[in-house]
Amino acid sequence: MYDIKGKPCIICVAITGSLPTKENNPAVPITIAEQVDSTHEAFEAGATIAHCHVRDDEGKPTSDPERFARLKEGIEKHCPGMIVQLSTGGRSGAGQARGGMLPLRPDMASLSVGSNNFPTRVYENPPDLVDWLAAEMLEYNVKPEVEAFDLSHILKAKEMQTKGQLAGTPYVQFVMGVKNAMPADRDVFDYYIRTVERLFGKDAPWCAAGIGPNQIVLNDWAVSSGGHARTGLEDNVRIDRDTLAPSNAALVRRVVDLCAKFERPVANWRQARQILGLAALQ
Ligand SMILES: [Zn+2]
Repeated sequence: MYDIKGKPCIICVAITGSLPTKENNPAVPITIAEQVDSTHEAFEAGATIAHCHVRDDEGKPTSDPERFARLKEGIEKHCPGMIVQLSTGGRSGAGQARGGMLPLRPDMASLSVGSNNFPTRVYENPPDLVDWLAAEMLEYNVKPEVEAFDLSHILKAKEMQTKGQLAGTPYVQFVMGVKNAMPADRDVFDYYIRTVERLFGKDAPWCAAGIGPNQIVLNDWAVSSGGHARTGLEDNVRIDRDTLAPSNAALVRRVVDLCAKFERPVANWRQARQILGLAALQ
């Protein structure tokens, strides 16, 4: 059993991602203006981290730093205090282009530390690129969120912390339910938690994301086990089996309801920043 009562829960909203289209769900925000609106609504609903990708004029994923800059600026203006997390994931670009937005000094960025399979391809994260992305994050004071698609990625984060490649306590996200990578497996999930606690301490924060129908499963497991939760249209476009989610905010509200069920307050942005060791804002 996990001791969770009264422990604030950070809700991260992954607003867009690289894959979903308007054809999948018209609520997926694609333009910067749509992204800022959707993030604002999710922020009002309780989300305090915005996990962001950007799209080009045709709606295709890109790592264009100029677009990231406009999105970051819009979120900071309309959602003051919210944590901006930019994706350095491999679906939006290749090689060092994936980290071209890090000089913008967002609060956080996602960091994959190893390779694995994705539904139709290899998700390539070669060691030299991982080292470079981590070094850029140190240089620009960006807090990484380590994406754990596999157990080895959590141990890699420990090695990187020991070598001084990651500052502070790594914030690890367990990603489950990506086809051909780690499925949503409860025993593995509990072992992930044990591993984080063993390597980074009993109080080390962690979060979890599930893809598609696994989103709500991972939300439930994370909230009921003392972790933090990620939701949003990037990972899942449905609110239930037969219904499209009307918005990112609707998915956030689903996690807010879970927090109430397990007697956990939803973290406000000040609490979220404190839990993650981010600089306080005025
Ligand atoms: Zn993403």
